[in-house]
Parts: sequence; C-alpha cells; structure tokens
Amino acid sequence: MFCKYCGEKIDEEEIEKNGQVYCTHCGGLNKKEESFENDFKKFSQENKSEEPKEVKNPSDTGSFWWGVLGFFIPLAGLLLFILWQKNYPKNAKLAGIGALVSVICEAIFYVVIIIILSASGVNLNEFLYGYA
Ligand SMILES: [Zn+2]
Repeated sequence: MFCKYCGEKIDEEEIEKNGQVYCTHCGGLNKKEESFENDFKKFSQENKSEEPKEVKNPSDTGSFWWGVLGFFIPLAGLLLFILWQKNYPKNAKLAGIGALVSVICEAIFYVVIIIILSASGVNLNEFLYGYA
C-alpha cells in the first residue's frame, strides 16, 4: 500500500504485523486499511437488507373481488385504479379492469337496445325524448 500523506510506498509486512506503520518518507502514521473494506461490506449488506421491503406489499393480493367491485361500481374502480397505482399495483389493475369491463358492457348494452329498437321500427327520438 501507499502512504496516505505523501503517496510513497510503505512496508506492507510491517503494517500486517503491527496494524500500523510510520512512513519512511514523511514519517506519517499509516494504519491498516481494513476499516474501509469493512465499511464497504457493511454498506452493501445494508443495501441488500433494504431490498425485500420494496419487493411486495402483502396487502396487494390482486384479488378477483377488486375486479367485481370495479365492475359494479365503475367510479370506485376507477378511483382505486388511480390511487393504488403505487402501493397496490395488482389490486389497482383488477379494479381498473373491472371498471373498464363494466363501461364496455354498458356501452354494448345501449348499442344493442338501440339496434333492437330501430330494427323494430320505433322512432328513437320519440322513444328517448318524447317527440318526433
Ligand atoms: Zn509518507
């Protein structure tokens, strides 16, 4: 290793033996460089231990029932879809899909009704608004 004061090479055998050595060039005291390695190990271990926290939220079950809720109450489904994006992504997705399916079904329902009514010769304006 090298002296941390002047950068000259210092006796590694000496530092292994005593844990510290005085630089022969400038006389500065150099200590064994294990503290840095330990700090680095600690740092990487701390980083590792933090990972599992953000992996999964146990409440984010992605239950089928969030889809059912979204289907019957599309507004609630849409709200949950927006609010839960970050914390409950699976639940949010299901609620959003439920709401979407609900809206699509409703749209299809109205289209089918209108097709049936016009096919049966009912005047739509008269039917919907009460005038022809
Ligand atoms: Zn030195």
